[in-house]
Amino acid sequence: MNKKIVCSRCVMDTTAKNIHFNSQGICNYCIDFEKKIELQKKNKDYLNKFLDKLKLKKGTYNCLIGLSGGIDSCYTLHKAIELGLKPLVVHMDNGWNSELAQNNIENLVKKLNVDLYTHVIDWSEYRDMMNSFFKADVLDVELLMDNAMLSVNYSLAAKYNIKYILAGTNTNSEGMAMPPNMNWIKYDKRNIIDIIKKFGNIKIKTYPIISTLDLVKYIFINRIRWVSFLDYFNYNKYQAIKLLKDKYNFKPYPYKHYESVFTRFYQGYILPNKFGIDKRILHLSTLIISKQITRNESLKELEAPHAYPSEEMLENDKSYFLKKMGWSTDNLDEYIKRPEIPHDFYRSEIKIYNILFKVYKLIKVLKFY
Ligand SMILES: [Zn+2]
Repeated sequence: MNKKIVCSRCVMDTTAKNIHFNSQGICNYCIDFEKKIELQKKNKDYLNKFLDKLKLKKGTYNCLIGLSGGIDSCYTLHKAIELGLKPLVVHMDNGWNSELAQNNIENLVKKLNVDLYTHVIDWSEYRDMMNSFFKADVLDVELLMDNAMLSVNYSLAAKYNIKYILAGTNTNSEGMAMPPNMNWIKYDKRNIIDIIKKFGNIKIKTYPIISTLDLVKYIFINRIRWVSFLDYFNYNKYQAIKLLKDKYNFKPYPYKHYESVFTRFYQGYILPNKFGIDKRILHLSTLIISKQITRNESLKELEAPHAYPSEEMLENDKSYFLKKMGWSTDNLDEYIKRPEIPHDFYRSEIKIYNILFKVYKLIKVLKFY
């Protein structure tokens, strides 16, 4: 294998697909991201306009907020209440929530006195679907939960006639473009169905799944908008943690998206070992370019062999994963050794998604929507 080349300004490297460098050794990922931050600065001026529009909405709720128990979503909820909004709060319980996440959610919901809707995923269905994805050797096992979360959020918004989903997605802590070899499109119902048809053992009856065309319907018929709410503020992850700790006794996680034990194991063990992907370079580079940490601090973090604060925690998660999935250590080792099969080896909506995405961008540019 060729030696990795690392960007001279962030810590993205040649494990990211489509990366290239200019004459100073700076990569396209951080150059594009910087442009995005500049554009997003204008967003802040629109906050009051946006709030006025939201507050005009009649009904019990004027927005919907998905709460995972992580920093971004907890801070989104805090801000929404501070600004006088009336959110319906939605949480997905998929059986993998860490205790920390559970506590964070309880503390916030209680103190802010908001309505919480918890959608409990049927574990036997979800486990069978996860096992199908493992057997299929596709990269994005998180596609299952992300898709279900999107499905539940949009369908609840439609049910309660809520027009705005305020999400913790934001430019400052996750705005750098995801390299195409690090995940898959999240609305690929056809892909999910084909994989569970080929590898699944049980009939899926209750699992929520959203397709690209469902999304189109929610956007253009129900007129529901997905709003990256934190982009209206000068969002700083470290300041947010401090505030949440002081106000809600919030317990932060060592790494991004570690509120779920599976996500932790997936990002910290499966992705690097089976797929050669270390998502830390993306998360840290984003924080470098948005000036929340330095490149040297990031390089130091990357010296650790994996995104786990200790070997002990990795071993604990591994045992937990094996027990919960009903796997032996050999099963895991065999899975890790098998080569990756691309998602579009199976049936997929990627082509239609890409076409519709281009059309949607055009519509936005032309200000039809
Ligand atoms: Zn870079």
